[in-house]
Amino acid sequence: MKRVAVIGGGFGGLTAAAELAHAGHRVTLFERSSTLGGKAQVLDAEVTLDTGPTLLSMPDVVRATFERIGALDLLPRFHRLPLQARYSWPGRTFDCFEDLDATLASARQFGDGEATGLDRFYAEAARIHRAAGEPYLEAPFEGLPQFLARAMKRGPGAFMAGLQLGTLDGLAARHFRSPELRQFVNRFATYAGASPFHASAAFALIPHLERAEGVHHVEGGMGALVRALHLALGRLGVDVQFGQHARWTAHRKELVVGDAPFDAVVVNADPFADEPLGTRELALSGYVALLQVQRRLPLAHHHVVFGGDYAREFSELFSGEIPSDPTLYFCHPAATDQTMAPPNRSGVFAMVNAPALRSEADAAAWPARSAVLLEKCIGALLQLHPGLRRDEVLVLGQRTPVDLAMRGAPGGSIYGFLPHGRLGTFQRPRIRSSTPGVFFSGGSTHPGGGVPLVMLSGHFAAQLAHAHLEGV
Ligand SMILES: Cc1cc2nc3c(=O)[nH]c(=O)nc-3n(C[C@H](O)[C@H](O)[C@H](O)COP(=O)(O)OP(=O)(O)OC[C@H]3O[C@@H](n4cnc5c(N)ncnc54)[C@H](O)[C@@H]3O)c2cc1C
Repeated sequence: MKRVAVIGGGFGGLTAAAELAHAGHRVTLFERSSTLGGKAQVLDAEVTLDTGPTLLSMPDVVRATFERIGALDLLPRFHRLPLQARYSWPGRTFDCFEDLDATLASARQFGDGEATGLDRFYAEAARIHRAAGEPYLEAPFEGLPQFLARAMKRGPGAFMAGLQLGTLDGLAARHFRSPELRQFVNRFATYAGASPFHASAAFALIPHLERAEGVHHVEGGMGALVRALHLALGRLGVDVQFGQHARWTAHRKELVVGDAPFDAVVVNADPFADEPLGTRELALSGYVALLQVQRRLPLAHHHVVFGGDYAREFSELFSGEIPSDPTLYFCHPAATDQTMAPPNRSGVFAMVNAPALRSEADAAAWPARSAVLLEKCIGALLQLHPGLRRDEVLVLGQRTPVDLAMRGAPGGSIYGFLPHGRLGTFQRPRIRSSTPGVFFSGGSTHPGGGVPLVMLSGHFAAQLAHAHLEGV
């Protein structure tokens, strides 16, 4: 049996550890905190709230992982959301349904031609997914020539379409006249902590995937998925060591973690965690308020309240400021999952994009910033629910970029690497490091952040580590 160390118990590390153990290797997972899940933590009180990821897309990636490790029996149920998300502006609401016709009907209120524009947008997003998304997601990124060879297999038309992509905002402007529907499309750049004015139109593959594969909720919350993976690790004999801030070193041909030698190492810590930031730009961080409301709200499962000026919002965010008129995202899991709150209560996760920290002074500003953002979140919730009183809203907790930084995310950035520019996303750190036997997994590496993508990175890291161990 070969010995493998996995450093970090986020979704990427958990996936790699489980797959390598299932392949017959002796795996030790080092987690520096006292819980697994990394950014996917849970607040369990009268209501249950995820404090990190809330929305599951690409459910087949998660299912395939559990199938590969022989743990389908542990996989929690997924709820497919017919109303995928509600978006609102003063006096206006756009509902995005799984059913395209219902979504197009909702788009009609934004002007003549906007429903047709949305239909065309989704058709183009599907082409973008085929041209750029499929070749990007189907194998570890090992260089542009290999990627281009995979892209060419989809035909020269698809390949040329991929080459001509501009920014996500440019794509939105080609399909929509209304600022509201442009904002709807542009928001998908924030799934990578990026600005739609600088990120590639390739990010349109996210709304395509949500439409084609659904928006899902994990019954019991994302924490239930972490618990299921933890159980699977136990079954597979993975040695999980908590409270271990591990570092790897390479001495001649030997890899060492702590004092112990290993034949391969998968690093789920951010590849830049121990490096000075220098001039490197980081993807966005976030502020989260965890609220309990003393009655059951009619709030949708996912509800976004847009700020009035998206260009100004991103300009403020990437200048290091909190937005003056921020877009707020509410997640209300009890809307579709009765296990998340008693019948007369609502748990509400409220999130605002925030700049990553660049200095001690940025970190020191957060107590005051939290107070401002908390009031904005509660104020918006009260506005959405006329009759709801301030004293019915309890604050269970808040999470800031400082909390994320303390868990090892450079600058508290949720997605680490900032994929701005046409080829931005190809410049991510690769899974195969320059040291033989050392591989990366997680949100900063290929293919990117978000639960399904980091699980893919864990799968690719396990594949490459297994091939290394077998001498392939
Ligand atoms: C507020 C918020 C909302 C989000 N919303 C969504 C969403 O709705 N949908 C979605 O798909 N994604 C969402 N995400 C993103 C998603 O949570 C992350 O991309 C994903 O969970 C990151 O997984 P990871 O494998 O990169 O590991 P991480 O979660 O970054 O975990 C890394 C782990 O490694 C440990 N570690 C670090 N260094 C060491 C070391 N030296 N030794 C030992 N252990 C170490 C850390 O303690 C941590 O447990 C959200 C994230 C946040 C914070």
